[in-house]
Amino acid sequence: MAKVIDGKAFAEGLRGRIAKAVDSLKSQHGFTPGLAVVLVGEDPASKVYVANKAKQTVEVGMNSWEHKLPAETSEKDVLALVEKLNNDPAVHGILVQLPLPKHIDSMKVLTAISPAKDVDGFHVVNVGKLSTGQDSLVPCTPVGSVMLAKDVLGSLDGLEAVVIGRSNIVGKPVAQLLLAENCTVTIAHSKTKDLPGVVRRADLVIAAVGRPEMVKGDWLKPGATVIDVGINRIERDGKGKLVGDCDYASCEKVAGAITPVPGGVGPMTIACLLYNTVKAACAARGIEQPA
Ligand code: NDP
Repeated sequence: MAKVIDGKAFAEGLRGRIAKAVDSLKSQHGFTPGLAVVLVGEDPASKVYVANKAKQTVEVGMNSWEHKLPAETSEKDVLALVEKLNNDPAVHGILVQLPLPKHIDSMKVLTAISPAKDVDGFHVVNVGKLSTGQDSLVPCTPVGSVMLAKDVLGSLDGLEAVVIGRSNIVGKPVAQLLLAENCTVTIAHSKTKDLPGVVRRADLVIAAVGRPEMVKGDWLKPGATVIDVGINRIERDGKGKLVGDCDYASCEKVAGAITPVPGGVGPMTIACLLYNTVKAACAARGIEQPA
């Protein structure tokens, strides 16, 4: 049976280290890192994410601002708010919750965020820095996924890694991070031929597909490490349930280690957002990030 990778416990430890770092920034440098979150509209899932982000930001001792705008807010007004936050020295991180209402061009808004405050790591400047090996703000879920893989495997040097999914939010940045860790990386997607055969080569599988329980145990090389990024809501036995992109029951019999859903990658995302905010705050002040 595979070792279960406890993302909840890892994220708790990371938040504890962030809280200590925030404390030392307050006592030694006299400032408090701050994160501003912008939510446009009434998407129920987004509202829950934003509330959780704000709660955890405050819990580690940082300043948190929530800007909730009605769904009909114009693109111009959203851009004006982003510009105001860009110019506010107390705000070190800006996150615009996606998806935005259809009449707003997400790419335009994301590109308006100052790259130095882009704690989601979606700005083209940060994407470019990541892909050219420069220090940058990196998307949170990919960072969290690689942290978990390194925690269980130690060095990732020379491992065959297969990333399933090529989105800008997860697949591509996670592949870049694995390349930087010296993995041999394959990125699979919906047009990949013989996906089970490709996945079977992998020492490390990162599944970011959005298809419930797609990856089966017999697709895995025995002993492979499986990081399941997927979060899918399904109905089973008349009840709602969260499942990943991997079929946990069959995968845990073959894998060496596996993240559960929920309780794997999920909790890492907000912890890494807080980590990025501290990183952005230290960079803005020109001080070294506390350990
Ligand atoms: P996207 O829908 O943006 O991308 C999905 C990717 O999977 C695409 O590249 C697509 O290929 C590929 N794909 C779809 N079907 C198949 C298939 N049958 N075989 C192989 N590849 C396929 O999703 P995201 O990257 O945004 O999210 C992926 C999953 O991760 C979702 O379940 C999401 O909920 C979850 N997620 C979890 C987070 C967390 O905090 N843990 C954060 C973000 C996402 P193609 O490009 O060819 O269409």
